[in-house]
Amino acid sequence: MSRVLLRGGLVIDTEPTVVVHRDTDVLIEDGRIAAVGPGLAVTGAEVIDASDRIVLPGFVDTHRHLWQTPLRGIAVDVDLGWYLQQVLGGYGTRYRPEDVAAGNLAGALECLDAGITTVQDYSHVQHSREHTDAALDALASSGIRAVFGYGPSPMLGTPVDPAGMRHVADRASGLITPAVAAIGPSYTPIDVVRADWALAAELELPIVVHISSGPVASHPLQLLLDEGLQRSNVLFVHGNDLPDSELKLIADSGAAVAVTPAVEARMEMGAPMAGRLKAAGVTTGLGIDVVTTAPGDMFSAMRELLALGYKTLTAAEVLQIATLEGARALGMSDQIGSLRPGKQADVILLRASDINLIGGLHDPIGTVVTAAHPGNVDTVLVAGNPVKRDGRLLHPDLQNTLTAVRRTADHCTQPDRRSDREAGESGVDGGGLGVIQGFEDGGGSVPTGVDAGEIVGLLLGLAEGDQGARGFVLAAEFELESDR
Ligand SMILES: [Zn+2]
Repeated sequence: MSRVLLRGGLVIDTEPTVVVHRDTDVLIEDGRIAAVGPGLAVTGAEVIDASDRIVLPGFVDTHRHLWQTPLRGIAVDVDLGWYLQQVLGGYGTRYRPEDVAAGNLAGALECLDAGITTVQDYSHVQHSREHTDAALDALASSGIRAVFGYGPSPMLGTPVDPAGMRHVADRASGLITPAVAAIGPSYTPIDVVRADWALAAELELPIVVHISSGPVASHPLQLLLDEGLQRSNVLFVHGNDLPDSELKLIADSGAAVAVTPAVEARMEMGAPMAGRLKAAGVTTGLGIDVVTTAPGDMFSAMRELLALGYKTLTAAEVLQIATLEGARALGMSDQIGSLRPGKQADVILLRASDINLIGGLHDPIGTVVTAAHPGNVDTVLVAGNPVKRDGRLLHPDLQNTLTAVRRTADHCTQPDRRSDREAGESGVDGGGLGVIQGFEDGGGSVPTGVDAGEIVGLLLGLAEGDQGARGFVLAAEFELESDR
């Protein structure tokens, strides 16, 4: 039996409420929390000195598109329409398997570096089986715990590919579990939704899905209810403009919502909704979403959530949303999200003596939520395995990963790149719109019956609209594959 003892830390646990235990040990046995208490009598353990450390359960990022890591900061001063057109419809279509590998590995390591031990990776860059395998291999290599959401680009408007989904379900193992990343009732016709929900039911998988009031369905939860598609293991994302009646339907179903405050604000998706979700009794997780637009760490996200929820959320509630409630939103609260004995040992240690945390131990919860940052993360364990120690990531291939990210950023964002010239005329002019080339490179994932020119027209039209979500409904109007 392997034993690790975190000796004498300032422990913040999150279940059933957020509490502080000073000068407390955490015993890990075979990757699980075995005991939490002062002065544990243990023999034969590797001891990690946790004095001057704040010990926390790892953060749970409930919504992130990891593949976009090489596109960091590219969509800050833009609206949702630009993001859809340029990132999903442009840069994303240029992604080769090696680009997905670079984005997913670097993104997962960025998570671990910042104390995120579980991430819901919503991967809508699945142009081919090789892209899928690249994403899964990268996640496994990183050492992170991940819920891998497999699905099509929203720009395509298609159902999740059943064969690809089965492949993911077959391959996912260890720390990686699969989910159906559906485009959903807000953005696709109901027949696509029915197909995705049926696939999830058949394979007994959870669903992750973006949601909003329109453009296809103004009351998507009511629609799901009317269709007999209400189910508990669904994680809805955003939904800022949903009326309270829709939030009540989510609460009634036992499903959950992931909020991503920075991106929701920046892309004008609607008013902050964590307070409304709390009032409606909806399980709520916190997420990063896209590093094209927002910082990639949960400290930043917690501060945004705290600031935007100033009349409704305490610092302790914010910390709980970032850990235990996120785990609950992913259906994993029996495994992760707190330091309760029996759970997986996903644990992080912050240096309490760092200059930005010193003086804050009279209220360590408020201090962590308002003041901590990834640079304070000294040690990260996932299932008891160290992935960061003494402030340094332990992944053996970190330098090559950084190089690969630079290569991908160049390949996907530079309009005059060599591969374009080699490929010849793509039919699309201008930076970032290699859409047709990209889809063709990706193994013919354009639905049959769709004129390539229509897609370009759609994407260019989007640039003029201020309601980016229009892109989804237009995409949904594409004629879908007849063999569905
Ligand atoms: Zn998203």
